[in-house]
Amino acid sequence: MNLKSKTVRTRFAPSPTGFVHIGSLRTALFSFLYARHNGGRHILRVEDTDQNRQVEGAVENLLKVMQTVGVEFDEGFYFNADGKLSERGEHGPYLQSKRLDKYREAINTLLESKNAYYCFCSSERLEELRKEQMALKKAAMYDRHCRNLTSGEVAAKQEEFKAARKNPVVRFSIPVEGETVINDLIYGQITYDNKLLDDQVILKSDGFPTYHLAVVVDDHYMEISHVIRGEEWIPSTPKHLLIYKALGWEPTQFAHLPLILNPDKSKLSKRQGDVSVEDFLKHGYLKEALINFVAFLGWNPKTDQEIFSLDELIKQFDLSKVNKSGAVFDDNKLDWFNSQYIKKMPSEELANVLKPFWQEAGLLAPSPSGGGSGRGFSDDYLSAIAKLEQDRLKKLSEIGESTKYCFVAPEYEGNLLIWKKSDAAKTKEALLSLHDLFVQLADGDLTQDKLETSIKKFIVDNNYDNGSVLWPLRVALTGQEKSPGPFEVASLIALGLGKQEILNRIDTAIEHLNVVA
Ligand code: GLU
Repeated sequence: MNLKSKTVRTRFAPSPTGFVHIGSLRTALFSFLYARHNGGRHILRVEDTDQNRQVEGAVENLLKVMQTVGVEFDEGFYFNADGKLSERGEHGPYLQSKRLDKYREAINTLLESKNAYYCFCSSERLEELRKEQMALKKAAMYDRHCRNLTSGEVAAKQEEFKAARKNPVVRFSIPVEGETVINDLIYGQITYDNKLLDDQVILKSDGFPTYHLAVVVDDHYMEISHVIRGEEWIPSTPKHLLIYKALGWEPTQFAHLPLILNPDKSKLSKRQGDVSVEDFLKHGYLKEALINFVAFLGWNPKTDQEIFSLDELIKQFDLSKVNKSGAVFDDNKLDWFNSQYIKKMPSEELANVLKPFWQEAGLLAPSPSGGGSGRGFSDDYLSAIAKLEQDRLKKLSEIGESTKYCFVAPEYEGNLLIWKKSDAAKTKEALLSLHDLFVQLADGDLTQDKLETSIKKFIVDNNYDNGSVLWPLRVALTGQEKSPGPFEVASLIALGLGKQEILNRIDTAIEHLNVVA
């Protein structure tokens, strides 16, 4: 029996520094998928040991984003029934600043076993050292000055620090010889020469551990089986492995995820507007599309299938199908995923997710209950608009611009009314006759099919060209150079705004032509 086969427990361990980077979503998603695929548990631990980088409300924000996109946690932080941030699970606390006693205990063990030592070096000395090393083109590394102090020297220094109300830091003693080998589940075996590893600070003078110590202690006590994180943490991993060894603990397994790159292969921008999950949602990417897209940032099912629901991802996700090479973040691909999901949605559902975007564009009043459609537009009408746009829409945020004419009369340049093979006079004449035609049509005649039949007959009876009638009618109704066809648009406007609105828009078009002509 493989003694190592234990329950899969993965964790997402963000530092609460504000918005959620798309790369963090990828880490959280892969760690969640791996846990679920293996019937394991997924833990949310918050790494707040860097007290200078805390952002108020960051954990709430992170959790809200994760909830929105469907990444779940079984332990750690969650929102209770009152919507308040709470903790659950038997391995808590899940906030590092509440676990200082555990870190202190580990540090004491390391100090006692001589795997760690106090360092009294001033920042000036360290800076001087760094400059010297740079001048010699050497890697910046602590010179282990305090590692070699005698116990007498240490005691004297400790007295000196006490008197000055200062605290020394504690550094980890990296073995002077040998190699440390990472067996990464994605990158394979990576060997580090211990000589090249720095004696990392593990306890800062403010009494907080550094990330390197805290991550090992927490992963150990939280019984994490697999650490899944970005490849930027690979160089830290040998240090973590050495800390595990010094504490006599069995290390977790490691799986590092490939870098996320811009299409030009540079490292993905860190600018918030470009990469925050909150912004992607705000700009109208569906959570399903975002998750599907992010899953493909480094993972590949090795089949032709591209559309995956979260459940399908859980079924198929495997670390063996994660690539080593950088994953290109391609906006066009994200748009493609989004349009695929938009096309598949029932139009009522699409109308529902579009409501906030229409409201944002000032076209729909927010309804007091948050439910109905507000400002007198029926849900049927909104669904019909959604249906009409469904095949063209890439981002929900485009809906205000493309469907404004469904809510308010369009504004446009009169010249746009004139079809390329027509002129102002002929256009005006066509619109005047169209006006008469609409006056005669009963409400029941305003369906798309019936309109198509009657307008086509009208064109033939009057000896018009299709273009010289259909083009100005469509522009009169939409004000757009490109839009769905005139029959669809006219029946839609009749449904939502009534026949009179069609007549008004034809009148306005005729007025525009009076100016042009
Ligand atoms: N707190 C680290 C971060 O912000 C976590 C790194 C890890 O997963 O070990 O990314």
